[in-house]
Amino acid sequence: MEHVVIVGAGLGGVRTAEQLRSGGHRGPITLIGAEEHPPYDRPPLSKQILSGAWDAERVILRDKPALDELDITYRLGSAAVSLNGTTVGLDDGTSVAGDAVVIATGVTARAIPGQPGAVWSLRTLDDALALRDALDNSRSLLVVGGGFIGAEVAHAARARGLDVTVLEAMPGPCERALGREGGALAGRLFTESGADLRCGSRISRFVDAHTVELADGSTLSADIVLVGIGATPELSWLAGSGLDVGDGVACDRTGRAVGAAGVWALGDVAAWWDDVRGGRCRTEHWTTTVDQAAIVARDILGLELPAPSVPYVWSDQFGLKIQLVGRPDLADNVLQVIGDGLDGGPVRGTVIGYFAGDRLVAVAGFGAPRHLPRLRGLVATGAHRGTVLSLAQELIGGVVR
Ligand SMILES: Cc1cc2nc3c(=O)[nH]c(=O)nc-3n(C[C@H](O)[C@H](O)[C@H](O)COP(=O)(O)OP(=O)(O)OC[C@H]3O[C@@H](n4cnc5c(N)ncnc54)[C@H](O)[C@@H]3O)c2cc1C
Repeated sequence: MEHVVIVGAGLGGVRTAEQLRSGGHRGPITLIGAEEHPPYDRPPLSKQILSGAWDAERVILRDKPALDELDITYRLGSAAVSLNGTTVGLDDGTSVAGDAVVIATGVTARAIPGQPGAVWSLRTLDDALALRDALDNSRSLLVVGGGFIGAEVAHAARARGLDVTVLEAMPGPCERALGREGGALAGRLFTESGADLRCGSRISRFVDAHTVELADGSTLSADIVLVGIGATPELSWLAGSGLDVGDGVACDRTGRAVGAAGVWALGDVAAWWDDVRGGRCRTEHWTTTVDQAAIVARDILGLELPAPSVPYVWSDQFGLKIQLVGRPDLADNVLQVIGDGLDGGPVRGTVIGYFAGDRLVAVAGFGAPRHLPRLRGLVATGAHRGTVLSLAQELIGGVVR
């Protein structure tokens, strides 16, 4: 492949470019990004940017001189509007023809029907900087959706002393990622911080940008209303491309777009074939995106592919780090392996194991970072329950509880 055109100048796009160069690609690389900013990292937006610990420059993954060093042609502030074979059409009417195209256009925040434009969401650096200012100048926050991003924003607001209410449709927050037991632990973090967490609660409509009506007819108002109910893949520009785009660009196990020659997709926008599930799976995780960028670059270059890695995601909430290793979606039972948060003890230091039968498929640590590396090894091998509990005993042996 000579000229590689990468659409989407976020984490996946820039990592693919880096991997192509480190893998020996000498041909031209063009990186197309809809935002004016150089490629930047998103996890700090809801953490260090909102808390005020970092300024905007620290989230930049590669500034323009660093992109020049990689000998990349970049077109920032330029959105792709079409794909025809391996030719990308841009919003200024020009087009870029490549020998290979990599789609890394990520996702956009999902909105509720009838959501006023002035209701907040958090996806971009500009969103985060504006939200930080708004939090500094407000007294109350209402979050619709108690997922990771909702939790991190709620934490930033509680740290400033705002009154915070969180509406979550499921029985517990963060349940989609952590399951019922993990969600119960996460829920305790919300309430122990002083946030008013209302689970099983849905809004029926927005009265205006500051007021929502609930299913029971009552209303809730706040200075800031933020919706964090997930995201949808950025696929609009691919209409007419002939690609299979249901929930994400359908890809095989190395990111090749199904039924299209010379087109790959990765990161949040891509639904890769998952051998374990026997189906396609779209993942919105930082480490998965980085891993996929390495696979795509090496596949384009015809190099040996890296070994599959164990999925990992983290979230910083209410003063502790939640770390999830493995595939909780494969579990049929859950066991508290370290700590006693599920029995009413401190959430901090609790680790739960997710099992398929007796085999460990995932672990979630709540403020337990020192235990995770060794447990990760057990997830990788699908260790038996007995082995997991023995290691857990060994790990807490030296811990004062
Ligand atoms: C606030 C926030 C906090 C997060 N925290 C965590 C965390 O703690 N842990 C974790 O594992 N993950 C976290 N994530 C998720 C993680 O950041 C993503 O999984 C990762 O950024 C995905 O990379 P990507 O390249 O697929 O998409 P992105 O990084 O979103 O990049 C996509 C880029 O494509 C551009 N684009 C879109 N459409 C077009 C177009 N038509 N033409 C050109 N460019 C286009 C977009 O402007 C964007 O810059 C967080 C995400 C957010 C928003």
